[in-house]
Amino acid sequence: MARRKLIYEGKAKILYEGPEPGTVVQYFKDDATAFNAEKKDVIEGKGVLNNRLSEFFMSGLNQIGVPTHFIRRLNMREQLVRSVEIIPLEVVVRNVAAGSLSKRLGIEEGTQLPRPIIEFYYKDDSLGDPLVTEEHIIAFGWAVQQDLDDMVALALRVNDFLSGVMLGVGIRLVDFKIEIGRVWDNDFQRLIVADEISPDSCRLWDIATGRKLDKDVFRRDLGDLADAYTEVARRLGVMPKSGGGTTGPKLVH
Ligand code: UDP
Repeated sequence: MARRKLIYEGKAKILYEGPEPGTVVQYFKDDATAFNAEKKDVIEGKGVLNNRLSEFFMSGLNQIGVPTHFIRRLNMREQLVRSVEIIPLEVVVRNVAAGSLSKRLGIEEGTQLPRPIIEFYYKDDSLGDPLVTEEHIIAFGWAVQQDLDDMVALALRVNDFLSGVMLGVGIRLVDFKIEIGRVWDNDFQRLIVADEISPDSCRLWDIATGRKLDKDVFRRDLGDLADAYTEVARRLGVMPKSGGGTTGPKLVH
């Protein structure tokens, strides 16, 4: 059998050419990196968990009419997604102060924000993904005003969906990052959610105990990362059972 063609290898995922035109196979690695890849490790099982979790979030978004690149999961580590042209911005939505926002503005971690705050970071590892304004985005042609409006609308819908799903299983969605891609349907261009949605790109705090259930466990050496992600998957009922099925979320009352 011919080897499939590698399109791109990133820090946590590999993209291969998909079986049909316009599709891509997204492979989830076990590699964990932080601080622009200065800190690295291999966390056994992380790729399997993130493949399942991203499937869960993206297919839920598709079902409520928020378009994403997700088509279907192929196996333990791979999913079939639509090929998109990635907009070179990381779109961050924050509900609670943490991380770089707390550091930059001196707001204590855990402070509830008066409204969701959206930020854009320019995707460039050599620059350390700098925070940019809408003025920069338009002036440098990374997106046009209509794209920005669409990105904000998508980000807020993803925020409402994820916040609600997480609240249902006793988890506070502090913040998250998404990436957005451009697709063409006939002559019409539109923006869809791409990349992944997983505890690698969210901050998730247990409501009852404050325990961190996201990549900060790795960034800040707070314990076992796979244990934290397994807990998120278990609560959402997306832990692969021995028979291969999943149970769906168990709501916390
Ligand atoms: N984030 C991400 N990739 C990045 C930078 C941030 O997924 O390259 C996520 C991060 O996990 C958090 C949110 O975006 O959920 C906000 O991150 P922040 O700006 O606070 O940066 P950090 O403190 O993680 O450096």
